[in-house]
Amino acid sequence: MNLLERAVLSALPAIPRPLMRQLSARYIAGETVEEALDKLRELQTRGFQGVLDILGEDVADEAEARDVLKTYQEAATAAAEAGLDSYVSVKPTHLGLRLSRDLCEELYGDLLQHCAGLGVFARVEMEDHSTTDETLAIFAALRARFDNVGIVLQSRLFRTPDDVAALPEACDVRMVKGIYLEPADIAHTQPVPIREAFVDLTDTLLRAGHTVAVATHDSVLADAVLQRQEAASVPAERTYFEVLLGVQEPLWKQWKERGKLVRAYVPYGPEWRAYSQRRLRKNPEILRHLIKATLRLS
Ligand SMILES: Cc1cc2nc3c(=O)[nH]c(=O)nc-3n(C[C@H](O)[C@H](O)[C@H](O)COP(=O)(O)OP(=O)(O)OC[C@H]3O[C@@H](n4cnc5c(N)ncnc54)[C@H](O)[C@@H]3O)c2cc1C
Repeated sequence: MNLLERAVLSALPAIPRPLMRQLSARYIAGETVEEALDKLRELQTRGFQGVLDILGEDVADEAEARDVLKTYQEAATAAAEAGLDSYVSVKPTHLGLRLSRDLCEELYGDLLQHCAGLGVFARVEMEDHSTTDETLAIFAALRARFDNVGIVLQSRLFRTPDDVAALPEACDVRMVKGIYLEPADIAHTQPVPIREAFVDLTDTLLRAGHTVAVATHDSVLADAVLQRQEAASVPAERTYFEVLLGVQEPLWKQWKERGKLVRAYVPYGPEWRAYSQRRLRKNPEILRHLIKATLRLS
């Protein structure tokens, strides 16, 4: 990243809202559930399934956590009634994990109950390492009561092989590299070991009877996962791909043409701005578009 790009990164919070909205349009469905459903519909016509994510994390109080639950319940209902193939994916701190573990587990339970009535799946997402123990404990408790729940595991963490071994039977696990840059005493920090761990962990999960949502845009990694799956004679339907809206779309198409199910993550909600800034930080290419657009405006 060059000096100009670094300067723009630090100025992101000051970028005018309409410009920010325009730049993030590719990665975010919009502010409302109607916009998210429109995006799911468009994906479905192109042969892709969806994952609904309401942007946000770390709620301030219990009332806010209960509002988030209600918004997710409404989204699941709306998508199911519209006949759209999607599920809901929820961050623990968005349902109050940092306020109270019991509250968080109760709200996930209510969400899963609601979703079960609609025939909809829901996933407990994984945040930074300070939340991993509680997130996995909540997931284990939920999995004992519900079939329609899945989890996320991060290949960068040294602990993940133990977490895989401790999973309940027959889970649906989203395998990711991990978006949170964790300290070197608990996590791999270099791309190669993170990728190798991803392949090994997926292999272990599949051999243990779990289903894996391979959430990546790294084609070399995806190929390695599929090769190991074939070598282990694991049925093809026990893996599918999950991708972020607007990221590496040609890959989605390739995977679909190879007969794989591909689900695109559809984030939406009033908190889109913070999410957009994260995307721009991750990808200098988008940052370059932002710089050009800003220069054109001025
Ligand atoms: C559906 C889905 C759900 C996820 N859920 C979680 C979660 O619950 N917890 C968690 O810690 N992490 C989650 N992640 C993020 C994940 O951990 C990685 O940070 C992210 O997927 C990038 O890693 P990669 O495997 O795509 O490989 P990379 O090597 O990072 O990316 C491969 C290529 O894709 C492009 N790319 C990747 N990510 C982006 C982006 N965000 N914006 C623009 N371009 C990008 C880059 O150009 C790069 O060349 C999720 C990812 C996906 C796809």
